[in-house]
Amino acid sequence: MISGTYLASPSPPPSHPLNDTSAAQAASLSRNRRSVGEPGKYWPQNSTIKITIYDCPMDDPYVQAVKNAASQWQAHINLNFEFVSGEDGDVRITQNLPGDNSGGSEVGIDAKNTSLPYPTMSLPMDHTAASFELVVLHEFGHMLGAHHEHQHPDANIPWNQASLDARFTPQQQQVNFLPLPRNDTYDFSPYDGDSVMHYSIDPAWVTDNTWRSRNATLSADDIDWAKKAYPKPPVS
Ligand SMILES: [Zn+2]
Repeated sequence: MISGTYLASPSPPPSHPLNDTSAAQAASLSRNRRSVGEPGKYWPQNSTIKITIYDCPMDDPYVQAVKNAASQWQAHINLNFEFVSGEDGDVRITQNLPGDNSGGSEVGIDAKNTSLPYPTMSLPMDHTAASFELVVLHEFGHMLGAHHEHQHPDANIPWNQASLDARFTPQQQQVNFLPLPRNDTYDFSPYDGDSVMHYSIDPAWVTDNTWRSRNATLSADDIDWAKKAYPKPPVS
């Protein structure tokens, strides 16, 4: 998923996740970019975000795997992630069907517009998969208010329009691939091809036949974005 919104039904993946899903399923996809934030969708500073994982006991190794990845973001921000049982978290995670290694998430406080009990984030079911941590990092980036880095207006990715048209609806393209408008809704740092918010991009999707790969860890610019979006108080 990407910057988008979940669909109204719990069974179909959210539209935001949907997009990320498609990309991930084309195993050749990659993500890259420096974080593009949407400050209007950031959570209140220093707040606690309650996170629920549906149908998953808090002592399940799955919860720990999600926590481990999420903690990489939390180390740099002033928000507190509180994993809670039950079904009424601010962020509600559902696991995809087996074999679906994609993810999806509402962007920032858009999660508040998703009514209970619909999920606001979807993650792969297999927390032992090599790509699991990356998907969690990417979706938590959206949850914190980041958009796709490859949609940065300076990304200049030479999309092969016919190739995109063959795979994605115009809405999916808009939400997950095409450049964001250059306006003050967004906080654009310089384009960062190493961001976890960047897709891996299959050469078949672009006109220059070049792979753009996806970083598996938070880039230096991802961390800078997180610190800027949710600045921690100075240590005294
Ligand atoms: Zn995404």
